[in-house]
Amino acid sequence: MKTLNIDVAVIGGGTAGLGAYRAAKAHTDSVIMIESGPYGTTCARVGCMPSKLLIAAAESVHQIKKAPGFGVHSQGEIVINGREVMDRVKRERDRFVGFVLEGVDEIPAGDKLSGHAKFIDNNTLQIDDHTRISARRIVIATGSRPAYPAVWNELGERLIINDDVFNWDDLPDSVAVFGPGVIGLELGQALQRLGVEVVMFGIGGQVGPLTDPEVMDYAQRTFNEEFYLDPDVHIESMKRQGDAVEIKYMNKDNELQKITVDYVLAATGRRPNVDQLAVENTALQLDERGVPTADYFTLQTSVDNIFIAGDASNQLPLLHEAADQARIAGDNAGRFPDIRAGLRRSKISAVFCDPQIAMVGETYKEIDTRHGGCGCFETGVVSFENQGRSRVMLRNKGVLHLYGEHGTGRFLGAEMIGPNAEHLAHLLAWAHQNNMTVSEMLDMPFYHPVIEEGVRTALRDLNAKLHIGPEMIKHCLDCGPGC
Ligand SMILES: Cc1cc2nc3c(=O)[nH]c(=O)nc-3n(C[C@H](O)[C@H](O)[C@H](O)COP(=O)(O)OP(=O)(O)OC[C@H]3O[C@@H](n4cnc5c(N)ncnc54)[C@H](O)[C@@H]3O)c2cc1C
Repeated sequence: MKTLNIDVAVIGGGTAGLGAYRAAKAHTDSVIMIESGPYGTTCARVGCMPSKLLIAAAESVHQIKKAPGFGVHSQGEIVINGREVMDRVKRERDRFVGFVLEGVDEIPAGDKLSGHAKFIDNNTLQIDDHTRISARRIVIATGSRPAYPAVWNELGERLIINDDVFNWDDLPDSVAVFGPGVIGLELGQALQRLGVEVVMFGIGGQVGPLTDPEVMDYAQRTFNEEFYLDPDVHIESMKRQGDAVEIKYMNKDNELQKITVDYVLAATGRRPNVDQLAVENTALQLDERGVPTADYFTLQTSVDNIFIAGDASNQLPLLHEAADQARIAGDNAGRFPDIRAGLRRSKISAVFCDPQIAMVGETYKEIDTRHGGCGCFETGVVSFENQGRSRVMLRNKGVLHLYGEHGTGRFLGAEMIGPNAEHLAHLLAWAHQNNMTVSEMLDMPFYHPVIEEGVRTALRDLNAKLHIGPEMIKHCLDCGPGC
């Protein structure tokens, strides 16, 4: 068995692992990155990028179908060539993976190790059965994987996860999506628009990552116009029938329904990859999900020399968060024991369904819990249904809720479903990180006619409710479609 004595060992070679490796390398040459699977990152191989490629194809179909609303008609039927769709998804996906691999190739061979890492103790790692590493500091950057009930495995290859979708050569006829969360909504709606028959089921009533009941209710109604979505379904039975899956469920009218689908897509959440690290051999403190607890600003765990970053930390499983956390954890592992608090930006998240869902800053639930139901905050509201530019583009669906604090007038957060939500969310996140008040945000320029004017209407509504600005004028020119 080979033995190595290293300053910093990084477990995982995904986005967080690569970032932590680079950050630690700025302090010491003695850094090793251990990867048990293929390089290329979850984001590029089976996550952010291939999902957006599939969505882009679906959007093009949707645009054609919407064209008659403008008086524009194409001749003949729309032909969706599933093979061509999947071919482009995979081709472009491979390009993105290729860019990552080029970066990995530039890392010296001696700094990379293949194999599955497990803890022997707070400072020692066993890599498969070939290498033992004694590391002064360790960064856990092991990512996450899909989580679903074990009994579903009885469906065999008819049970799929996101990874499988991006390996398809052609599109199937029908899919039942379990889990109307971020991944379920994105993939489910895209498949539906690409001609696949989709039904979507959830348990507990949650739709997307939203916490504001009114915004969530709007989302549920909107998606139901396109495909059957029951976020709190009762499934009677689900079993393999030859090359298909038969599902019996109670519909919303409490009637028993039977459907047969080609595949069941498990999009029921992801679990951090920390359960196969033998953390029980360390002094790491774990939370109720078995994830090592860590300081939000330093990413240091309860064991001084061990840091954690990315999806493994179970803080915010998003790409930009993985990169930020990696920079902080890697930097601190490199500079240890002189550790520093890193910049944690205002929270921003987006779901690339249509209309898009986005959230900024504190969630409705967090604010409501923090204020203990004391009514210390207000909600500014705008509907996009009559918003000028949104109507022009026939994208007038959605609602935006902005939250502001009584007394200070501070902008606290936002939840929305609507057109261009990814862009509105950036605007709002920048304001949030700058600790702006609602009045200060209203002092900023707004062009005309743009969807951002809807944000201004919601800000005015919020300022009035906070008793900082004037009452909203009904049918005011630039609050409606504008002049
Ligand atoms: C379908 C989908 C769509 C997504 N879309 C978006 C999006 O639009 N925007 C967004 O911000 N985020 C999105 N995400 C989330 C984003 O992809 C993740 O937050 C990000 O990739 C996490 O990076 P990571 O480095 O923590 O994990 P990974 O990139 O998964 O890296 C972890 C690595 O650790 C390795 N590993 C695990 N255990 C061990 C071990 N014991 N020893 C050695 N190596 C190990 C794994 O093989 C893996 O390569 C999406 C995710 C999915 C699945």
